[in-house]
Amino acid sequence: MTTNLRSESLDAGGAASAGPRVGVLALQGDFREHARVLAGLGARVSLVRRPDELEAIDGLVIPGGESSVMDKLSRIFGLQQPLRAAIAGGLPVYGTCAGLIMLADTVLDAIAGQESLGGLDVEVRRNAFGSQNQSFETDLEVPALGADPVHAVFIRGPVVESVGSGATTLASLADGRVVAVEQGNLLGTSFHPEITGEHRFHEYFLAKVRARVAA
Ligand code: GLN
Repeated sequence: MTTNLRSESLDAGGAASAGPRVGVLALQGDFREHARVLAGLGARVSLVRRPDELEAIDGLVIPGGESSVMDKLSRIFGLQQPLRAAIAGGLPVYGTCAGLIMLADTVLDAIAGQESLGGLDVEVRRNAFGSQNQSFETDLEVPALGADPVHAVFIRGPVVESVGSGATTLASLADGRVVAVEQGNLLGTSFHPEITGEHRFHEYFLAKVRARVAA
């Protein structure tokens, strides 16, 4: 029920003013799961569907879903250019799966006419794991998040095929394929920490948001 997802009910506890204001792009995909995780971590969460809603946030999550649909909806809702401007202006943004595709400067195996927002100096390939292995789980070493491996769930996820000089690899599969990257205030993962109870990527993102608020 979407009424449960209004920002009022997602605030953690009564001390809402203490948490950073984080929007979740809610055009399509698993935005509810991200909203719940972020609220549980103390953020003041709002769902973003209109350009003016970008003005009230200090960070944004772009969820998993279907990047070609999200792209189309972002243009229909007049969000594409405001989102690009926000990214260029330094807004911290975390994209998971389709969200990572939206953040990539270059998308391989895009559908005809599909555009991304860009910002991450990477090339990603959509649906990169082939029909036999589209969805799988594995444990990843992510040194930036500490010694414990991250349990990662992939659902028709992309792979980062090349990482430009501006971006940094945070995690790779055992075969070397890159599945988590960051670049300044931007963070992207091919997998879905929002559905596994693994909150260290969201914490890592919230640290970027808090640093920006404090700056
Ligand atoms: N395959 C989807 C796309 O191309 C991404 C899948 C996901 O977000 N779980 O956008």
